[in-house]
This record gives sequence, C-alpha cells and structure tokens, in this order.
Amino acid sequence: ARRFFVGGNWKMNYSQAILEKVNDALGKTKDAEADIVCAPPALFIKDFVSSKPSHVQVAAQNCYHAKEGAFTGEISPEMLKEAGCTWVILGHSERRTLFNEDDEFLKKKIDYVLNKTDINVIACIGETLQERESGKTNEVVERQVKAYQEKIANNQYDRIVIAYEPVWAIGTGKVATPQQAQEVHDHLRKFIEKNTNGDIAKKVRIIYGGSVTGASCKELAQQADIDGFLVGGASLKPEFEQICKARQ
Ligand code: 13P
Repeated sequence: ARRFFVGGNWKMNYSQAILEKVNDALGKTKDAEADIVCAPPALFIKDFVSSKPSHVQVAAQNCYHAKEGAFTGEISPEMLKEAGCTWVILGHSERRTLFNEDDEFLKKKIDYVLNKTDINVIACIGETLQERESGKTNEVVERQVKAYQEKIANNQYDRIVIAYEPVWAIGTGKVATPQQAQEVHDHLRKFIEKNTNGDIAKKVRIIYGGSVTGASCKELAQQADIDGFLVGGASLKPEFEQICKARQ
C-alpha cells in the first residue's frame, strides 16, 4: 500500500502566530500514518526547521536549476538542502500562471533536482476551469505529467509525489468531488503505467490539492487512487491535524 502523504503549502504567509499555531497542530500528528511535509516561505524555512516536531519534513515552494551564480532572487536546491529541506514543490499553478513557468522550464528544474541533489519533488499539475469545461482535463494533465516524466528515471519514482491540483479548486473553496478527483487520479495512474510499468504506477503517490479542509478530507482520502493532499489555506489552521489523520 502507498503511504499517505500530506503537504502543507504555506504560500506567501507567515507570522510568529502562524508558526506557533501550525507547530501546535503538528505536535498532535506524531502517530498519524502519513508523511507530513510543510513548505514555509523560503525566508522562514530555518525558523520552521528549528521549531517543528521531528517527524515533520520540510519543503521549499520553488527552486532554481543551478547550484549558485548570477540568478538574482533565486535559491538553489543545494541551499535548500543546507537549510533543512528534503522536498521541493515544483510547477505549482501559481508559479505557472503568475510567474510564467512552463513545462520546458519545469523540466530543467526537475532534472536538476533529481540528478544533482537528493531532494524529493512534489510535482504539481492541474487544469483550469476553461480546460475542464471544454473537456480537455485529461489532455492537459497528461501533457504536464509527460513533461516531468521525460526527466524522471524509472528508479527515481520513489522520490516523486504527483500533486493533482485543479486550478479552479485552488483557494476558491470549491473542492473537487471525491469522484472528480478519483477519476483524474485513476487516469493519471494508468497514463504513468503506460510510460513506465505497472510496478511504478502502483507505487507512485498521487495526491490531491484544492480547497481541502478538515470537513472534506475524509471522503477524498477513501478514494482508491488518492494518496494524500497538498493543502494551502487549511495547512495554517488547527484542522491540519485532522487532514494529516484523514486515513485513520
Ligand atoms: P488551498 O488549499 O488554499 O485551496 O490551496 C491549495 C494549494 O494550492 C496547495 O498547493
């Protein structure tokens, strides 16, 4: 069975009060049967690393595809590693839409992270509302996954979590129904199998993101191909504890 995975993406949110509240919720998740990974803004990664419970891992929200150099404003995976990160989120829809990151650029990033470091990757994909309404959901997520897959060797899938985050569900309060999410996850698993093999497809974790809350997490977590969540807003609240325990 695939181990449950819950990511908390803090996005551009941080305060001492948030840090304390999140650490309080995380403190109650020691026995949760899940990998729990939180992603604070880069500037505060070290504060989180030095205050978090030891069972929680740390992710960055983005990175660049070089070790060092003249790349103003960027942070390297090596630097993130030194700060205590073991994961990085790549290709979040906010990076794609607000900062013009496309599949070609993301290929460079995932290639660098996987082949030059030992950091693990939460690789994000997801369709817009317009794409869904015009029946293009599968086509869009296939294209996005395919781009990542070009750079993932078969023996690297244990370092990858695929995060399906429909853009229309992110920060909107409009969570995908368990059936909608399951349908895409099932399709993705079959697509991954086609490009790799049955063993990899069976083991790779595919998590859902988009308005997940303490109230919606249980039913989603019961779907056969939903292996966890990537949580935005609710990852800053006490209910993150319930989300980490959605499978219990
Ligand atoms: P929300 O949970 O706030 O909808 O955000 C989801 C997300 O983008 C996680 O990466």
